[in-house]
Amino acid sequence: MTTKTHGMAGQRNAAKPETLDGTFSGRCTKEEKAAWVKVAQSREMKLQQFIRSLLNAEANSILNPEKCPDCKSENFERFFPGDAVGNTICHDCGRD
Ligand SMILES: [Zn+2]
Repeated sequence: MTTKTHGMAGQRNAAKPETLDGTFSGRCTKEEKAAWVKVAQSREMKLQQFIRSLLNAEANSILNPEKCPDCKSENFERFFPGDAVGNTICHDCGRD
């Protein structure tokens, strides 16, 4: 299993282990949950891990927008948030 960085930027080099002392829950349809579980399993993750990684990636992308390596624009999109590699496009300079 590969180690991926979850959580917020700036915390990734934290020396002590994370304490998961918060909780969340929410309601959804059975169909939605079934689809989420299917995708989580395809990534060898538990649903809780999958949801957490997606929420962290989305929150991080909003709170710490990734900038284009070429023109430094924040109008830069990564199609699969959380993936270190993958498809990106800059809507200003066209870098992809
Ligand atoms: Zn650019």
